Amino acid sequence: MMSETTQNKQTIGFQAEVRQLLQLMIHSLYSNREIFLRELISNAADAAEKLRFQALADESLYEGDSELKIWIDYDKDARTITVRDNGIGMERQEVIDNIGTIASSGTRRFLESLSGDEAADSRLIGQFGVGFYSSFIVADRVALETRKAGLPADQGVRWESTGEGEYTLEAVNRPARGTTVTLHLREDMDEFLDGARLRAIVRKFSDHIPIPIVMKQDKGEGEEVVNSASALWIRSKEEIEEKDYEEFYKHVAHDFEGPLARLHSRVEGTNEYTLLLYIPKNPPFDLWDRESTHGVKLYVQRVFIMEDPKLMPRYLRFVRGVIDSDSLPLNVSREILQENRALERIRAGAVKKILGLLEDLAKNRPEQYRIFWKSFGSVLKEGIIEDSKNRDRIAGLLRFASTRDEDESQNVSLTDYIGRMKEGQDQIYYLVAENYQAAKASPHLEVLRDKDIEVLLLWEPVDEWLVAHLTEFEGKPLQSVAKGDLDLGGLKDEGEEKARELVAQTFGDTLEKLKKLLGDKVSEVRLSQRLTDSAACLVLDNFGLSRRMESILKSSGQPMAFGSKPILELNPKHGLVERLRDESDAGRFEDLGKLLFDQAVLAEGGQLGDPAGFVRRLNALLQEALPASSRESS
Ligand code: ADP
Ligand code: MG
Repeated sequence: MMSETTQNKQTIGFQAEVRQLLQLMIHSLYSNREIFLRELISNAADAAEKLRFQALADESLYEGDSELKIWIDYDKDARTITVRDNGIGMERQEVIDNIGTIASSGTRRFLESLSGDEAADSRLIGQFGVGFYSSFIVADRVALETRKAGLPADQGVRWESTGEGEYTLEAVNRPARGTTVTLHLREDMDEFLDGARLRAIVRKFSDHIPIPIVMKQDKGEGEEVVNSASALWIRSKEEIEEKDYEEFYKHVAHDFEGPLARLHSRVEGTNEYTLLLYIPKNPPFDLWDRESTHGVKLYVQRVFIMEDPKLMPRYLRFVRGVIDSDSLPLNVSREILQENRALERIRAGAVKKILGLLEDLAKNRPEQYRIFWKSFGSVLKEGIIEDSKNRDRIAGLLRFASTRDEDESQNVSLTDYIGRMKEGQDQIYYLVAENYQAAKASPHLEVLRDKDIEVLLLWEPVDEWLVAHLTEFEGKPLQSVAKGDLDLGGLKDEGEEKARELVAQTFGDTLEKLKKLLGDKVSEVRLSQRLTDSAACLVLDNFGLSRRMESILKSSGQPMAFGSKPILELNPKHGLVERLRDESDAGRFEDLGKLLFDQAVLAEGGQLGDPAGFVRRLNALLQEALPASSRESS
């Protein structure tokens, strides 16, 4: 027997990433060490739910025992704690894949992002969800024995590791279905060899687990169920303590921190369902990972069916929690569920509730809403594009940076903006730029600043799409200050108009000459109504793609249907522009004209076609302008 075991015993090295994760976890989570129990119970509960789901189609998987439970035991002499379940269990390859490797590329990228700064990293670890490896916070040796439901007893597997560089794997005979995890405690962890302590931890973290968690009684031979063992979301709100809501969230969301907000609601009628949904505080590590499998969990009549990010629209992919339907059929396959009408209605109902929750947060707990916006604002913006039915509500939830604010914090709603509009103003002005600095300093803002008109500033990658889909809010059109003739509507000033016309006449054929010179770099050269300080800027016609959008499309490999050329606008009151007008020497006219164009490109954060030419022309001009004395001394 002994030699047989040794013969089939195999030693396998952990992936480098797992080793790194283990080290970090042991060090950074030391002060939270009791969470190991929560994690093991959470896995045992998941295993029970998986078995229950699979047994819907194949009852033989129960092997005659359908009472799913979790047992916790400790042994003072051996200094061990065991957590046992009769859930789905694992076969050999599953043990290798789930415990010892990190399969998802998202997780690997996450680990690469760890900085080595312990405080920062332990917060990240929390977001990432610690899982099975947290056993090694309290144990210096962990053994896991498991046998998959439906397989014969000789298909058992034993995994063991000290958490250092490798683990062993061997075949064992295991009549009992499910998994047993045995923790050999570290020297200083004897505090956990105490029934009262373990029971308190279970009640604190795992009371909401809908499966009985059983422990031996301290006195006598009996067993007792330590937790409430009923689905939390089915209980009435009055019965649920705040801490249970919070611990349940941590369980479903794999989050270390509590949630930002929640909604718990039961919908009656032909389509009955219960929602217990949460908004996290921090973005999960895989928020931008297209392969992420985390999302809302679907239950049918208390039976776990699937966890699917698609239960929520993509723009609400940060929502976590449970939807439990009483009307969906229990014996339904995941594939059929995905296009089920009743599920569609549940989805639509859940979306409305979440939007309502966010509206409530924005109105009544603005500080919390600010945290939400910082974490998920750029995701919510996708809703403007994705969910045209709810577009108006989503638009009401948007927050922007604005020329009124001193920094790039995004606090201004469209409603705030409209409330502050100037008399005669009938449009919502915005500017999309490369980044906040470029937006804030853009020449396009000059005349609006002069007239004290607020402009919303946008610079996130999603923003170009956002403004393409959000053309108005509460009857007020959105207008880019960098596109078309800047239409000031009712803000126009008759006197100014007249003065401008007079100045325009003095320009004669200057604009035409410059257009010829610049060729097809621009579609037009004209005098500007936007500029007060700068000499020149580029604008697009109303349908033109912005420079930024072009580069987004180019980098995503989309062929450009049409290259949109910008319009060059000149400020007739600027000294350089006046000089251009009055310049009779063709060579100097060319230098100055090209210089003005290049300046306008630079002000947008663009790249010059001929940077060396720009420098040469600029220097020529500077030398000409410098006083004679400094020319001599150089
Ligand atoms: P997570 O639970 O977030 O997936 P864990 O590290 O806690 O991450 O667990 C990794 C995987 O190991 C689980 O997803 C599951 O597939 C498997 N596993 C862990 N514990 C058990 C168990 N008691 N029974 C069956 N499978 C388990
Ligand atoms: Mg887990």
